[in-house]
Amino acid sequence: MRITLLGTGDTTGTPTVGCDCDTCEAARDRDVERTRFSVHVENERTNESLLIDFSPDFRYQFLREDVPLPDAAIITHIHFDHLDGLGNVFRVLDELDVYAADETDPETGKSVAETVDSDYDYLDPVTVHPTTPLEPVRICGFDVTLVPVLHPPLVCYGLAIEDPETGAKLSISGDTSYAVPDDSRAVLADPDLLLADGIVPAHLCEFHPIGGRHENSDGVPRTFGTKHMTREGALELADELNADETRLVHIAHYYPAEEAFEEPLALDGEQYVLE
Ligand SMILES: [Zn+2]
Ligand SMILES: [Zn+2]
Ligand SMILES: [Zn+2]
Repeated sequence: MRITLLGTGDTTGTPTVGCDCDTCEAARDRDVERTRFSVHVENERTNESLLIDFSPDFRYQFLREDVPLPDAAIITHIHFDHLDGLGNVFRVLDELDVYAADETDPETGKSVAETVDSDYDYLDPVTVHPTTPLEPVRICGFDVTLVPVLHPPLVCYGLAIEDPETGAKLSISGDTSYAVPDDSRAVLADPDLLLADGIVPAHLCEFHPIGGRHENSDGVPRTFGTKHMTREGALELADELNADETRLVHIAHYYPAEEAFEEPLALDGEQYVLE
């Protein structure tokens, strides 16, 4: 299993257009970036590639990393930064299987699969496969399980990707607060690599209109607002899931410049091979 982090940023990315904050300036100086979220997972046994989420930066990411185009894809939720790159497959791919959850979202009255299907019904190459969370499906030779996470007001899913031949396991938290349900945690547990949403450090919660949530025993908020984990929350989740290695993703440019390039915050282009 070869994993390429195509996009490790939040919805505006780093650098953010028009922003001259110290973090965006430092990213330009170092020639590094965090584009909108997407992960490429290649099955080197079957020569197939699975894409997690359609970043609006899809075209640029595939040109930059020169990884194979996807045979199948998963969409975790319908926010702009995870879905709106799907239109890029027009006249690029002849066929694409897209998997998304089949549970109706009370907020939209549709499942993620139904929203993808109706928003992109002009895209003939795309076949949407409504997928039941917590039940593994075989995609590109991997066993893939969507797991409900907490990203109000929309439904959103994390996922586990396992190679049935080698036992290699990648878990992705999805966009989520720290309050990941127990049955989802059980599926995500014991990964070789965890990609966890750690959008900002906990000390920035004072700047969120509603502050932080899910404080630990030292009073440190593990959730920023209601939608994302703090760095501290993501690292605690990684501990609890017993991850061998963890990279924090969905990173905002609000990290102060002196913290924004510290471990284990991911940058675009990182590659991992799990065996
Ligand atoms: Zn900035
Ligand atoms: Zn989101
Ligand atoms: Zn997002």
